[in-house]
This record gives sequence, C-alpha cells and structure tokens, in this order.
Amino acid sequence: MTLPSHTTRDVDLFIDGAWTNGAGDKRLDNRNPATLDVIGRVAVATETDLERAARAASCAFTTWSRTPPLERSNILRRAAALFRERAEDISRAMTVEQGKPLSESRLEAELAAQIIDWFAEEGRRTYGRIVPSRHPLIQQHVIQVPVGPVASFAPWNFPLTQVARKISAALAAGCTVIIKPPEEAPVCTSGLVRCFADAGVPPGVVNMVFGAPGEISSYLVPHPAIRKISFTGSVPVGKHLASLAGQHMKRATMELGGHAPVIVTPTADLPMAAKTIVQAKYANCGQVCISPTRILIADSIYERFTAEFLDNVRSVVVGDGLDPATKMGPLNNERRLAAMIRLVEDARQHGGKVLAGGNAIDGRGHFFEPTVIAEPGLESALMNEEPFGPIAILTRYSALDEALEEANRLPFGLAAYAFSDSANDIAKITAGVQTGMLGINHTAIAYAETPFGGVKDSGYGSDGGLEAMRGYLQPELVTIATR
Ligand code: NAD
Repeated sequence: MTLPSHTTRDVDLFIDGAWTNGAGDKRLDNRNPATLDVIGRVAVATETDLERAARAASCAFTTWSRTPPLERSNILRRAAALFRERAEDISRAMTVEQGKPLSESRLEAELAAQIIDWFAEEGRRTYGRIVPSRHPLIQQHVIQVPVGPVASFAPWNFPLTQVARKISAALAAGCTVIIKPPEEAPVCTSGLVRCFADAGVPPGVVNMVFGAPGEISSYLVPHPAIRKISFTGSVPVGKHLASLAGQHMKRATMELGGHAPVIVTPTADLPMAAKTIVQAKYANCGQVCISPTRILIADSIYERFTAEFLDNVRSVVVGDGLDPATKMGPLNNERRLAAMIRLVEDARQHGGKVLAGGNAIDGRGHFFEPTVIAEPGLESALMNEEPFGPIAILTRYSALDEALEEANRLPFGLAAYAFSDSANDIAKITAGVQTGMLGINHTAIAYAETPFGGVKDSGYGSDGGLEAMRGYLQPELVTIATR
C-alpha cells in the first residue's frame, strides 16, 4: 500500500524566546527509521548557543520564580490546550521520526497533554508548613522555593511524554529550563516546545537545544547558572552525569534503564496475563524502560502460558507506523538493530531456544521480528543487559522464592510485574521485589499523577506525581522574632 508522505521539516534551536539556526550553522540529518529517508535537518548548538541559553534561563528565573503560581498554571494549561489542538500533526511527526505506530503516538500525545495539565494544577499546591517554635515570640515557616534553572535531557523512546514531564514539572515549580530533546525526534518535540512559547511562557523560561549530547552536558552540567540536572536514558550515561552533577554539587534526577521481571504464579489468569504482557512487551518495539523483559513462569503452568503467549505474539503485525494495520514499527536506530542481532546470537550460544522471530527483517528500515527466547543461560547477555527491543525472555521457576531471587539478581530496579490471584503470593511479591514501580495483574504504571522512578542502578528521584514536583523545590526555613 502507498503510505501518505510526510513533509520534510527542519528544526531550529529555541533560545531566549527566539528560534535560531545556531552560531555554528551546522545541522544533523533526521531520518525516518521505517524508510531511512532524510526527513529534515536539526540545528546543532555550539558553546556560544549554550552560553546564551544558560544566561537566558538564569535571567528569566528572577521573574518566573516570582510569578504567582496561578499565573504560571494558567500559562501551562494554555500550552496543554494548544498542544491538544496540534496533537494530530505532532503525533504523525513522531511516528515518522521515531517509528512507533500512529495509534501509540496519539496515546502518547494525549498523555503528554495530561501531564502538562496535572503539573499546572499541582504547581498551585506547593505548600510550606509552620513549625511550632520553642519561644512564643518566634515564628518558624518552611517555604518551598524553586531550585533554579534546570538542564534536562530527554530520550528518544517517548519524546513527547518525557519532554512534557521535564518542562512542565520544572515550570510549575517556578524553575526555568534548558531542554535537550532527542536528536532522533526533533520535529515532534519542537512542536511541543512551540506550544509553551505560543501559550505565553516568557522568553528564557524554556530554551531548547540539540547537538552532540556529550558536549551539551559537559558544558551545561558544571555551568554555574544551572542548579539541577534531569536525565532519562541509559545507566552508563546516567552514572556519568550523576557524578558530574555531584562534583558541582547539583541536584539530580536520574531515570535510567531496567530489566523488568514479570512473575506469573500458578493462580494467574493465563489468557489475560499472556495478552497483557505481549501488548506491553512489543509496544514501542520494546524500547521502553519499564518493558516487561524477564518473564518468570511457575513450572506447573509453563507450557500452557507459553502456548498462550506465542498465540498472542503471532498477532503482532510489523510495519510502517503510519499503516493502520501496524502493531509494531521499526526500531528507532541502527544501534538497537545491531544490539538485537547480537543479543539473539549470544542467547542461542548460551542455550536459549528461539520460539518466535529472532531475525532482522530484510528491506529498508530498522525492522526486527517480535522475538521470544526460552530459557537462555543466566550468563547470557540477554539475561543481564536491558534488551530495549522486541525480545521477550521466558524462564521457569519451581518455588516463589526462586522467582524473587531472580527478580532481584540484577543491579536494576525500575519496574516489576506480577500476575497472580493468590493474596499470599501477591503479599510475598510486594514485600520481596526490589523495584521503584510494581504492577500487579496489569502493566499501566505511568501516569502524570503517580511517581515514576527506580532504585539501585535504575536511578533516583521521580519524573511523575508530587514526588517529581519536590525535585524542583527546596525547603527554606524562615524564622522571625517578633517584639
Ligand atoms: P546511549 O547510552 O548512547 O544514550 C542514551 C540517551 O542518553 C540518549 O537519549 C542520548 O542522547 C543521551 N546521551 C548519551 N550520552 C550523553 C551525554 N554524555 N550527556 C547527555 N546525554 C547523553 O544509548 P542509546 O543507543 O541512545 O540508547 C540505548 C540505551 O539507552 C538502551 O539500552 C537503554 O538502556 C537506554 N535508554 C533508556 C531510556 C529510558 O527511558 N530510561 C530511554 C532511552 C534509552
């Protein structure tokens, strides 16, 4: 079938309220991962541009931090309304540059709008407290003040929700921000940033830069104007940025990788569990930090569950995200395709049985088959490294303690899931799994109003809920002696 073509679009930087080419006049290609066509070019920031952005964010902080929360809230709500009006165009742009099916892009756009609305409201509730004093003539107030200008780095797997989370929580708290959206999805993310600008966010409050991620972070993280770093991405990069932030005494929120265990106990509703896990596993081609990856199945139900699971995998139609029949698009980039090929080959060498897929799909684009691998050895790369792609691992356990041990074996602790109708097993799993988020009998764990973050190597801080707002605020004690 012929798919609708998409207009080629270039993307500029946004600094101090103006769209700009960047001082270096240099651009990167933006490619459609389904066709590998160049669909536009994105401006690259130089140190001159980064310095201008840092100064603008610092200057604008003086007024934005003192702008009444209700006024900030009204501007953010206008941004959400504008974004909803433009959501169809922005969603199509995301599918074309990121690869996910259009139905997923539309859902993500709606979630991004909800995130902006939620933080707009929550920004009006950054209450302080009064601490009873030891002396009748002394008052002690604890007020919440915005931490200052923030440098935020958002990844390419959920460009809209991640950029929405990082900008709206910061702005609602009274911070200004320099956002570096992913170079792999500049059109949709600049469309979102434009909504903030058009809604009346003053110049310098939101700045957007693209370029070489390492050069941008090594300039902005130590910059004296920047008071907080927020990063979503891989564990190695997160550890590097966290240590850089530590050296310069900057606050940091780190939302990093995972390798989510899913414990399926003998009492689970197997058809429901298989269907739910398959939907979550192959969404966004598995490039999801909370994607279910290690599926740990009780011995007594292993064969039945596996059959149900494979039945569901057969219905995952792979294709261009703009095709309405598509259930799974291409991988976003060449690095992920190479990683899938390596992980499958290594799993085979470590005893893994490929029950479905396992191959790159011939033709243009970074397409890979929905893949299921049974029982790769514990020493295989797949059992230790976040797959971040369309590979599900099925393994078996005989006692629940064994499943818990496997769930906690890795240094990650972002998301975990369980499917069970046994109150005892659910209680044991809830108490026993080391994780930031636990979904029981479903996998929908990422909403605006709920905390989003991990433990262990998966990072610290939160990108959701009131915990996210707290990351942009610091308590200040004001104590007054009256006469
Ligand atoms: P990568 O480690 O090169 O980059 C991960 C992200 O960090 C990208 O968005 C990149 O632009 C950014 N980045 C890289 N170096 C940086 C630096 N020095 N300063 C600031 N930002 C920097 O890996 P990749 O190939 O882009 O992605 C694959 C891996 O990243 C996956 O295996 C997955 O673990 C992880 N990832 C996680 C998430 C998440 O939601 N937690 C999102 C995207 C990628």
